Amino acid sequence: MTAKSAAAAARATVYGYPRQGPDRQLKKAVEGYWKGRVGADALRRTASELRRGTWRRLADAGVHEVPTGDFSYYDHVLDATVMVGAIPERHRAAVDADATDGYFAMARGTQDVAPLEMTKWFDTNYHYLVPELGPDTVFTADSTKQVAELREALAEGHSARPVLVGPITYLLLAKPAPGVPAGFEPLTLLDRLLPVYAEVLADLRAAGAEWVQLDEPALVQDRSRAELHAAERAYRDLGGRTDRPKLLLASYFDRLGDALPVLAQAPVEGLAVDFTEAAAANLDALAAVGGLPGKRLVAGVVNGRNIWINDLQKSLSTLGTLLGLADRVDVAASCSLLHVPLDATAERDIDPQILRWLAFARQKTAEIVTLAKGLARGTSTIAGELAANRAGLASRAGSPITRDPVVRARAGAVTDADTRRCRPYAERAAAQRARLRLPLLPTTTIGSFPQTGELRAARADLRAGRIGTAGYEERIEAEIQEVVSFQEKTGLDVLVHGEPERNDMVQYFAEQLTGYLATRHGWVQSYGTRYVRPPILAGDVSRPRPMTVRWTTYAQSLTGRPVKGMLTGPVTMLAWSFVRDDQPLADTARQVALALREEVEDLEAAGTPVIQVDEPALRETLPLRAADRDAYLAWATEAFRLSTSGVRPDTQIHTHMCYAEFGDVVQAIDDLDADVISLEAARSHMQAARELAAHGYPREAGPGVYDIHSPRVPGVEETADLLRTGLRAIPAERLWVNPDCGLKTRAWPETRACLENLVAAARTVRSEL
Ligand code: GLN
Ligand code: ZN
Repeated sequence: MTAKSAAAAARATVYGYPRQGPDRQLKKAVEGYWKGRVGADALRRTASELRRGTWRRLADAGVHEVPTGDFSYYDHVLDATVMVGAIPERHRAAVDADATDGYFAMARGTQDVAPLEMTKWFDTNYHYLVPELGPDTVFTADSTKQVAELREALAEGHSARPVLVGPITYLLLAKPAPGVPAGFEPLTLLDRLLPVYAEVLADLRAAGAEWVQLDEPALVQDRSRAELHAAERAYRDLGGRTDRPKLLLASYFDRLGDALPVLAQAPVEGLAVDFTEAAAANLDALAAVGGLPGKRLVAGVVNGRNIWINDLQKSLSTLGTLLGLADRVDVAASCSLLHVPLDATAERDIDPQILRWLAFARQKTAEIVTLAKGLARGTSTIAGELAANRAGLASRAGSPITRDPVVRARAGAVTDADTRRCRPYAERAAAQRARLRLPLLPTTTIGSFPQTGELRAARADLRAGRIGTAGYEERIEAEIQEVVSFQEKTGLDVLVHGEPERNDMVQYFAEQLTGYLATRHGWVQSYGTRYVRPPILAGDVSRPRPMTVRWTTYAQSLTGRPVKGMLTGPVTMLAWSFVRDDQPLADTARQVALALREEVEDLEAAGTPVIQVDEPALRETLPLRAADRDAYLAWATEAFRLSTSGVRPDTQIHTHMCYAEFGDVVQAIDDLDADVISLEAARSHMQAARELAAHGYPREAGPGVYDIHSPRVPGVEETADLLRTGLRAIPAERLWVNPDCGLKTRAWPETRACLENLVAAARTVRSEL
């Protein structure tokens, strides 16, 4: 191989593209199908049009090889489950009766049958459906969808590469099926799964695939020797077969580490590697194994999961280094473009100055094509693009939006003392007891009350100008009155205002903070037909005026009981946004924390005795590699403390997180130094309480006693029993009584019943103390 021939062969490709279509047609078609308004044929037609439109767009932009099979009605991991025939027993009849209805039954459940569990796809905000496997699982190949989509692309005249979830990642993402002992390891099924993959690969080759991509992102996580050995075995097996297409093993989201030599030595034809965040580590590791002689390297140099323009010059230099390491170097995004919105030019409300800093899927595609062209034909052929790119980067770096001297001076002046409460917990607890005078086992909620249709309509009316601000605020006040009087009547001890004014717990604050941008069409798939529009953290963050004080004080004016102020914490404000890539996350978090600290201090000054700062995302942003976790947790917990430590000892700081197992972050939870923490615990029978106790957690805690994910109303005795279980781990002086999470997705009837039962249960258990 010579660097020159490797360069001349450079091509542009992508691993996957947003599925929804420019007007979210897929969402409308799928939801229409569920409601019976759209027939099966119409659904298929819409899907086919969307796929063909995407391929045409990619090909017109200059992408040489388009992906197929990445499209999905709901989720690509569920598609893999169908492909290998791992249909859970309870869904078998539905799938046999009708493949499409059965598919959606696995995704969403039916009246009688539970869906597959859903969880986050690595450290993105996309959620996949978890395969359920057991020792009795029988795999059977079903290549229908993959073959049909490949044929469809070939028929349109495209050069196409099917993309599949790889067998190792598929098994590592799976969990034991219901009834199978928890210790069962799905990876032990590898030998049974490989022939099924081999059959699908053979079918794809017969249908005309030259290359097939097997995605193995699980290999960028810490993996045991046995797991790496399984990967080696898998690709020795698949690579050793003769009737197969060429194989491209793709990795993304982080560095490959010990898995890199395994993949580099596998008898396959190509490797796709992430050269964005993990560029240096992957470059070193690739050089250390002597490169990929005779192979194709697909270089993910354009960040596939953030929305900033690429530094083309820097990418060209990375690509230049890679040229000496493989036979052929192609250019791609670091991962599927599924994680970014479709097209930045649709954003008419964003200042054109800022718009040129942004690259969504369509703009990223153009960057990939430009880089491939520059590599293959010389940088003089992309001189115009390079100049425009330099100007965009310079405009961003020099903008007053990204550098606010006042914000920078304040962030630079933060001291360790600013991140510590002025008194130790024991003293604070005494001062808070004296001020709040709460009973043992105090009852509270997590913040939101049902977001009714009327509330959403009021927001839509305000946006459309059908009502003015005054009219809107009247409706919000009326809702707060109702929520407060309900809580008083029910006998809750610490009240909330109910968050009726919030569209979303991150967006609501993002809209009020300087430095954040909102998009109008920047939809990204969260799961199934649910799409979110993450705000963009574009510049230095400051708070021009109080954000929540008005509503919290209004609620407090209606009652003599303490009302809890409600904020979203700095880590969650970052986790559910597109973040800056031009400074460390820790710096951005510190700016957000300082803005929140002002809000906390204003709430306190307005007389709010209890302030909750939610951090549901603390654990989900945990880096994929264990070696990176301490550094992350250090800045994350510091940002939380910075936002909450400015208050007096008798102001009670709460925090909230919603997941049941948090053994790996319990020390971090302790490091937050919040006076009270509420956690999800109802479904796991108070697992959270036991984990806190095992750690020796010294402060107050409210493990949830009501599962808010279900409309089911737990009875008084059932709730009391959970409390008694909680009391075995946490003493009565430190135990709170609350639901698992906010009630915004619930309807009023069950909310009323559940909270009445929750208060009754607390009274029952109090009387037993
Ligand atoms: N305070 C928020 C609510 O009650 C918390 C939401 C969350 O944890 N996801 O809705
Ligand atoms: Zn929650």
